[in-house]
Amino acid sequence: MKKINIRMKEIEDIKKILRDLIVYNTGRNNQLGRGTTYPKFENWFDEKEKLKIDYLFDCVNNRFYDDWGKFGNFSKARNFRDFLNIENEFLNRDVPNTQLPFILDDHENYLGSYRRMNSKGIVSLNADNLQVFFWSIVFELACKQRYIFTREKIEELAMLCIEKTLYHELFHHFTDVHSYVVYAFRYDYVTEEAMAVACSRLLVGFESKSNQAYVSDFYDLAYSYKSRGYRDWINFKSDEQFLLNLISYMKIDPVLTQMGQELLPLVESMLYSIIENPNVRCNIVFCQK
Ligand SMILES: [Zn+2]
Repeated sequence: MKKINIRMKEIEDIKKILRDLIVYNTGRNNQLGRGTTYPKFENWFDEKEKLKIDYLFDCVNNRFYDDWGKFGNFSKARNFRDFLNIENEFLNRDVPNTQLPFILDDHENYLGSYRRMNSKGIVSLNADNLQVFFWSIVFELACKQRYIFTREKIEELAMLCIEKTLYHELFHHFTDVHSYVVYAFRYDYVTEEAMAVACSRLLVGFESKSNQAYVSDFYDLAYSYKSRGYRDWINFKSDEQFLLNLISYMKIDPVLTQMGQELLPLVESMLYSIIENPNVRCNIVFCQK
């Protein structure tokens, strides 16, 4: 697989707005018509552009000194693990559902969501959940691994965090499109979520400029899923495992292989063509107060 290049300016613009919102808390004024001005993270970096971890976080008691609500963030979560181990009654019940649900990963409880195509699909990225998810990983890395994070590294990691969620939701969009292409396709919750996570992890691996330890440690925490379905992504960690499983999930007629058509490059290019040119609207959403 290779690095993807989303050919949609709207999504590229949203990524930058969201990155600044997550890292500096900018652009929160009048969100959802609340009309309140919320403080930005002005004192979070010192004069050398380094994150002031001791000022922000009590590493001994594992506690953020501030209150997220003060910054206009009303996420119910307090730690990234809340998103990786979701106790959702509906998800834990075995529903013999072979149709794609209308909404995948509802955004109030998840980092992002995907709503199936009516005219267009909708990818929603939850700024509040992403902010809590992101900073709680950074705090943990700064406390336990003693990383010193500069403004630049923080911005890089925040972008990776957004892309992680975006690629996950775009995989659902790929399946949505595919379900119209191949009639025999049957949605399966466990496979769908495992594959969405694996796809996200493979694609995000091409994004980081540096192969440095703080990036791989960040990924290790950000992908430490415990929820049913999601956690199975580790079975599809490599390109080949991922694509082979995708071929079987997509229900491509095996006769095609017998005729000498190689499926791996075919399926890979189908995936890229949809993820790079998605028929979606993308928006930023917030948690209700
Ligand atoms: Zn999902």
